[in-house]
Amino acid sequence: MDLKHTTIHALSNELNAGKISSLELCQAYLKNIDARDNEIGAFLEIDREHMLAAAQEADSRRAAGKTLSAYDGIPIAVKDNICVKDERCSCASKILEPVKSPYDATAVAALKKQGFIPFGRLNMDEFAMGSSCENSAFKTTRNPLDTSRVPGGSSGGSAACVAADFAPAALGSDTGGSIRQPAAFCGVVGVKPTYGRVSRYGLVAFASSLDQIGPLCNDAEDAGIILDAISGFDPHDSTSLPDAAGGFADAARKGLETGSLAGLKFGLPKEYFTGGLDAGVAKVMDETIAKVKALGGQIVDVSLPHTKYAVAVYYIIATAEASANLARFDGIRYGSRQDANGLVDTYYKSRGAGFGDEVKRRILLGTYVLSSGYYDAYYLRAQRVRTLIRKDFEEAFKHCDLLLTPVTPQTAFKFNEKSDPLQMYLSDIFTIALNLSGHCGISIPAGIDGATGMPVAAQIMAPAMGEATMLSAAAAFMK
Ligand code: GLN
Repeated sequence: MDLKHTTIHALSNELNAGKISSLELCQAYLKNIDARDNEIGAFLEIDREHMLAAAQEADSRRAAGKTLSAYDGIPIAVKDNICVKDERCSCASKILEPVKSPYDATAVAALKKQGFIPFGRLNMDEFAMGSSCENSAFKTTRNPLDTSRVPGGSSGGSAACVAADFAPAALGSDTGGSIRQPAAFCGVVGVKPTYGRVSRYGLVAFASSLDQIGPLCNDAEDAGIILDAISGFDPHDSTSLPDAAGGFADAARKGLETGSLAGLKFGLPKEYFTGGLDAGVAKVMDETIAKVKALGGQIVDVSLPHTKYAVAVYYIIATAEASANLARFDGIRYGSRQDANGLVDTYYKSRGAGFGDEVKRRILLGTYVLSSGYYDAYYLRAQRVRTLIRKDFEEAFKHCDLLLTPVTPQTAFKFNEKSDPLQMYLSDIFTIALNLSGHCGISIPAGIDGATGMPVAAQIMAPAMGEATMLSAAAAFMK
């Protein structure tokens, strides 16, 4: 069967109509992987035997009329910082290379409960720190649309996996754009849920107040299907929201059915449309705005004045949290340990050999901004500006239902093009504020950049808990 950009809902129909078995489906995806992953490098590891055994179990359940859900037997791939029981979980870092997950992340357990088959771990920037996957300790992942270009990051393996049809969907994580930016670079759909919507239990923490797990997939309905499965309150995550979640796939279906944006007000934050946008991206954004209007959507101008501080604030708060979160990787309790003379030497040598340059840079930066004398000047101040950034969004949402912006200022860049860390950090300028504010956002393919031939994406952002409206609008737009 043709798996090109095949959706979970289409596969579910085929499976439930008996047109294909889960075993055949999994074999077909493995065939794609065998044909091309040598070149693409999306996967760090694939668990074939388990995948095929799980597929056979799903087929038996279906034959007996006992499917776990309409999606029983559909494979899904998982970013390497999300725990899948008994599989390795290295965060693409040498320091965690030997580690196997003792339990399933809540999101993974939720997918398994519906019969989804998590079968492989996807490459990423080490500890999710990066925007190109070039910070992986283990391998290079290439953009399936142009292998001389990066797939984005940090969930670059997840985006490449979906774009190359190695799986219909993948889980990623987004701390400052790591789902939306690679989705944009590879021409797939990616969602960062509202902070607290999806449990972080079993996601290796980078910056705990910003991290969220979310889907990368082929359309808005699939994003809804996965969000329906993985969102909801979890006693294992103290920041998980008590609000009832669900109805996301239905909302997307409704949007697709009507194909209309009538009644929706889209705010254009003027700070996201000033210079700095590549001409090809600006052109697609103009076309996107025209299309939104043609579909009945209303456009209003809004302002997010403190967004200009978002990158600076992020690199204080995210690094501060990372320096605390990564302190546990010390060569003592788990992970790799270097031979050394005594305890402190063990820390030094294990961390020195285990962490890559970017991770060390962040730990140094984060430790610095938290140290006495600098805490007030940097960390505390950044927290205050974070509040201003969040208030900007709340003010903007008083005047519109959704915000419409680009995801990135330029399309997928070439390898080694951004060797200066600051240049790399600035490529997340349109995604980072949303993690600081906690609201939700989706990246959807919107057109092609004439100069590079690479996809350009639009970002739709919604108020907290606004995923249903956001997915419905995304589905209508993508129709
Ligand atoms: N690129 C950003 C960073 O390096 C965001 C990463 C992420 O969202 N995990 O921190």
